[in-house]
Amino acid sequence: MIAIQSKLPHTGTTIFTVMSKLAEEHQAINLSQGFPDYECDEKLIGFVSEAMRKGFNQYAPMSGLAELRSVIAEKVNLLYGANYHPESEVTVTAGGTQAIFTALSACIHPGDEVIIFEPAYDSYAPAVKLLGGLVKSYELAPPNYDIDWEMVKKLFTVKTKMIILNSPQNPTGCILSEKDIKALIKLTKNTDVLILSDEVYEHIIFDGHKHQSVALYPELYERSFIVASFGKLLHTTGWKLGYCLAPENLMKEFRKVHQYNVFSVNTPMQIGIARYLKDPETYQHLSSFFQQKRDLFRTLMAETKFKLLPCHGSYFQCVSYEHINQEKDTDMAVKLIKEYGVASIPVSAFYMRNNDHHVLRFCFAKKQETLEKAVERLTKL
Ligand code: PMP
Ligand code: GLN
Repeated sequence: MIAIQSKLPHTGTTIFTVMSKLAEEHQAINLSQGFPDYECDEKLIGFVSEAMRKGFNQYAPMSGLAELRSVIAEKVNLLYGANYHPESEVTVTAGGTQAIFTALSACIHPGDEVIIFEPAYDSYAPAVKLLGGLVKSYELAPPNYDIDWEMVKKLFTVKTKMIILNSPQNPTGCILSEKDIKALIKLTKNTDVLILSDEVYEHIIFDGHKHQSVALYPELYERSFIVASFGKLLHTTGWKLGYCLAPENLMKEFRKVHQYNVFSVNTPMQIGIARYLKDPETYQHLSSFFQQKRDLFRTLMAETKFKLLPCHGSYFQCVSYEHINQEKDTDMAVKLIKEYGVASIPVSAFYMRNNDHHVLRFCFAKKQETLEKAVERLTKL
């Protein structure tokens, strides 16, 4: 065996893979990894297969299909009033994950500090570390995971290169408010600090709240990469398509990396999605669609012993069980799979340091009967 020096010695297999595999092994209902268990729109499948049949099966342009980049720019303009130039400021990516990794690769030099809010989506910290960057994490606590911007200010040093935002947030379902963004604008003003705004759940926001996209704020434009995912938008997480928005000078650096880590992404799907998204109706109903699922899941879960935490967006509901027992959340998640037949995600997986929060995350992007069956099992606890 040839020994290699690990670049990520403290990183194991992602929790999503671990829990989904365990769920499969024990035939548990899988509310762990975030993906829908229902089909996407037949019309979209029709558009994609038509593109395949018509022979659009070779490389797409490096930055993405022009029609798709135009549709994205129109959507961003319609929703947030921002003008991203489709030619130079929009790039189609192999999902949000690649957009995040590519943006970080384009900007982070060894020794650069990146501020993240924990619990944080699990790809951020390893990506920063791979690039020789230092993660400065701000650990937020349940039930509300509020951000104290004075604390964020304390994390700023001369080495601060970037701050990663994620609203609606995975795993907490929390959202940034206008007040949060105003604090961020004040904090970053007259600095060179960049923002990576992971907005993959932009269309999944509840109770009439308005998504606080960075694209709404011209003050943040020059320093921001915005990441989006067609997986969430179209119920097609397996297609692994998304995009990144950034001002031209940042996008130029992004594309230098993008061209060598993927070059370009799936042509027929880009054609199908461009055609499909021409009608804004395809995404305007998404919040109410998911709000119904959230409401159903919360109503059902109210009959269990779990305590529901607030959920304002994303397709995740977190619950606390600290009043039930003091088991570690990783143990509790395994117990729920093995003894009750329901898979969840232990929220400690989204922190770098150990904690004793006793919080689990459930994905409610599932059919009504899946949610009913899962909660019926959970009521036995
Ligand atoms: N960011 C967050 C917060 C996510 O939850 C996910 C995926 N679930 C991604 C990024 C990655 O998106 P994609 O699946 O398009 O790579
Ligand atoms: N984003 C999804 C989640 O949070 C899963 C993504 C993945 O499996 N990498 O569950």
